[in-house]
Amino acid sequence: MSHLWGTVEAAFARLEAQPGFEMRPVQRDMARFVCERLESQTSALVEAPTGVGKSLAVLLPTIALVLSEKKRVVISTYTNVLAEQYWRKNLPFALSLFPEAPSVALAMGRSRYACLDAIRGKALQQVRPELVRYLREWSAVAQEGVEAELDEFLRRKGVPLRFKQGVWEQIAAPPACRARVCPYYQSCFYYAARRRAAQASIVITNHAFVLTDAIVRQATDDKLSLLDDYDYLIVDEAHDLLDAAGSALEFDLDKEFIDSLIAYAATLGNQIGAALDSEKPPLGFILSVQKLVEQFGQRCREAWEQTQMPDLPSHGTATRVAPAELAEMPALRRAYRPELHALVEHLAQTLRAEIRTLYQELSQTVQTMRDQLTDAERSAVTEVLQQFSPGFAQIHANLGRLAEPPEGVCWVEPASEEWRACFEPLQVAAWLNQHLWQKRPSLLMSATLTIDGQFDFFVQQLGLETPCRLQLPPVFNYREQCALYLPHVGVIPEPPSHPQAPRANEYYAALAEQIGALLRLTHGRALVLFASRHEMHEVAKHLPPLPDLRILMQGDSSNADLSKQFREDVHSVLFGLRSFWTGFDAPGETLSNLILTRIPFEVPTTPLQRARHAWFEARGEDAFRLWTLPLAKLQMRQGFGRLIRRSTDVGIVAILDPRMRTRAYGTEILNNLPPGMPIFDSLDALAHWLAQHMEHLAPASGGLLSQ
Ligand code: SF4
Repeated sequence: MSHLWGTVEAAFARLEAQPGFEMRPVQRDMARFVCERLESQTSALVEAPTGVGKSLAVLLPTIALVLSEKKRVVISTYTNVLAEQYWRKNLPFALSLFPEAPSVALAMGRSRYACLDAIRGKALQQVRPELVRYLREWSAVAQEGVEAELDEFLRRKGVPLRFKQGVWEQIAAPPACRARVCPYYQSCFYYAARRRAAQASIVITNHAFVLTDAIVRQATDDKLSLLDDYDYLIVDEAHDLLDAAGSALEFDLDKEFIDSLIAYAATLGNQIGAALDSEKPPLGFILSVQKLVEQFGQRCREAWEQTQMPDLPSHGTATRVAPAELAEMPALRRAYRPELHALVEHLAQTLRAEIRTLYQELSQTVQTMRDQLTDAERSAVTEVLQQFSPGFAQIHANLGRLAEPPEGVCWVEPASEEWRACFEPLQVAAWLNQHLWQKRPSLLMSATLTIDGQFDFFVQQLGLETPCRLQLPPVFNYREQCALYLPHVGVIPEPPSHPQAPRANEYYAALAEQIGALLRLTHGRALVLFASRHEMHEVAKHLPPLPDLRILMQGDSSNADLSKQFREDVHSVLFGLRSFWTGFDAPGETLSNLILTRIPFEVPTTPLQRARHAWFEARGEDAFRLWTLPLAKLQMRQGFGRLIRRSTDVGIVAILDPRMRTRAYGTEILNNLPPGMPIFDSLDALAHWLAQHMEHLAPASGGLLSQ
């Protein structure tokens, strides 16, 4: 019996005493399991379907642990928004259930915090003087120094937020700075947050920050870190760690990168100048530093301009792959141009040499001009060089991986400014295992961490092998709350393999007709999820007239704005792409009808996708069964999960891809959805179910079919 469980049970007892509390046995089951894992310091995988209340189920045991033992726990979730939700909502609520509070902190990237030096220290470019006054006033009273806090302050002052457009980029903490020699260091929001995080027993952050911390430790042989030492890692939305790790380990070299490299060096020069700011600054030394930085920028720019890349196909082409035999595989063979890699390699190696030269020349300048600097000035310059050094080291290492990838694929593709060279690993499991899982025990959790009822896919892809696995049952009564519509075979033709395929128009017209009928059935209240932008626009063109319905379409406004409009206007319809398949939350009547237009199979068109398929081919494995289909099943589960968000929600799901009925994998996909839902193949039968269930379960709607 876990000793933490007693403390957690007491917290649950306080929760149960609160008015309106809804008892969730699965939440207690999960909390008990987490207690055991934390106490034994063992890793685990948890699938907790929507409605379990998984954040509270990990927060209560975590708080109990750090109150009873001297441990540090990091809790990571996918995005900044989700991390802020943990920080501002879930964590304070969980803490309120304990008689005492441990130290807690939120840790985010530098650019989330305002830089006092930028706000107070210099003239802000193109910022209205009255806004500068407000910024300075805010910086004196702000607690955390994050953008949401500034927005709230300006709102209270009656300042329209549009005045702030482009301002945050100017006042955000730079990627590196002079830190300890900055006059605002002691009150700096970013470094204060770092100090709080270093002291805190529980740190809330996002996946990108956890991964960057691991990359910094790797690049500096554990000499530097962002999160300091911690004992246990909890990863919420763990299915997104795959994408997050790919993004953290990928690297792009393009015009934008060259500009940011030059800007980084210029910031180094400026920070050295600022660190030496005094009544009698060593001007000769400062000018020498600026000259070196300018020459560095000029040489980097020339290196880019001298690299003449020929015309590239729109999806790009692979130039180097490791292991090398992947280049021989059918998936990659025809989209592989190794001769172009010489250009990429030469540019990457030139930039690496320039970075080394810059640091050597700066160090030499400090030596040769040492008599112009006081001891304090010399140590200030050394401090600035040290602060910028990890950033340059990381860029140097990334350029090395692009030039000579140890594992992964390099490719070149057209970009808005000329072209871009990219590197991405094909497998992140080994890296995650070495740099996260071997360092400390971890618990990965998500509403969708199994495929076909097994954790195997994520175990293989994320590299965390553990026998401790918990799969909780669905919380909602899908049998009563939800009905599934799969049209008869022949109602909609097979989806075209590409937009120009013969009969593509026939498909879009049939799809639009079915969607129109479904939208009329629920008088809007629908989320329609597409697998491609082209298909979304084609369907919109072919849609029959729906005079009373407001159609919102992804791309017409920001996702946040569209989500807000959709939630507020109950009869609206939202056409969405990938970003609405996961994490979108619209509980209640406004989302009563979910339409999944097509099974979202990834078609291997980009060099990365082709190389990934080649990786399976080289091992004699079936890429479709081991990669494409599991990902499609996962996305279908996630898309499906948008409909029922709470126990009073009720609605219909239509999956309009005829392959659900004509292919064997259709049944497999179905088996990954909650069991027990009634399935209909005609709109009349669906309308009948709706009339019975929407009237019964959502009387406040006023009767859907009567409208
Ligand atoms: S320490 Fe760095 S981030 Fe903080 S105020 Fe100074 S320059 Fe800005």
